[in-house]
Amino acid sequence: MNKKGILTVVSGFSGAGKGTIMKELLKKYDNYALSVSATTRAPRPGETDGREYFFKTKEEFEKMIAQDELIEYASYVNNYYGTPKAYVEEQLEAGKDVILEIEIQGALKVKEKMPDTLLLFITPPSVEELRKRLVGRGTETMEVIESRLKRAGEEAEGMDRYDYLIVNDKLDICVEDVHEIIRGEHLRSFRNAEFIEHMKAELKGE
Ligand code: ADP
Ligand code: 5GP
Repeated sequence: MNKKGILTVVSGFSGAGKGTIMKELLKKYDNYALSVSATTRAPRPGETDGREYFFKTKEEFEKMIAQDELIEYASYVNNYYGTPKAYVEEQLEAGKDVILEIEIQGALKVKEKMPDTLLLFITPPSVEELRKRLVGRGTETMEVIESRLKRAGEEAEGMDRYDYLIVNDKLDICVEDVHEIIRGEHLRSFRNAEFIEHMKAELKGE
């Protein structure tokens, strides 16, 4: 049986609730490993280096790019964000289901490099609710919120390139949806090729 974990990319508009969902998912289930990205954006109150992000200067980030330490990186509302390669590879080999919470350009780059990646898109039930959540979070200025909403409009263009669309209305249901989708993904026949070959061979008496 192939025991390698599944790589899942979770994207969605800023304020959709991705971070909140990931926190709940990791609290509830132990088969997941959340990749910690590198970024040049400043830490929000309560964020710790190495936990939410590895906070880097622009120069440090550009060095990571030059040394090929990132699976992908993208620029989002005036900052760099990128996924360190080593952790993701280690965790997948160890059988963990690895989740990347990244924006759409990065998501599509990962899919291109690693076609078995599962792509999930999280959306709030409405734009009104999105604005409410962004304002309610209280971590960005109105100017940044407006930039993030503008970016959401661009990201919406790519929503249909994802495998699943998950509406984050009730948090608990949304967390279960994500978990069930990944659980189901393990049962896909292409992910169980070795098992299939083994069964075939045994039935032929080999
Ligand atoms: P993202 O990581 O997608 O930018 P967050 O996880 O920071 O979004 O969530 C944005 C805000 O919305 C937070 O204040 C969070 O508490 C709130 N939130 C998340 N999910 C829900 C939900 N299902 N219902 C109401 N509020 C939510
Ligand atoms: P935030 O500043 O709200 O934490 O994140 C802004 C956006 O950057 C979100 O859409 C988030 O998913 C995305 N992001 C976080 N880490 C990465 C990463 O490593 N790569 C890419 N491409 N996007 C990321």
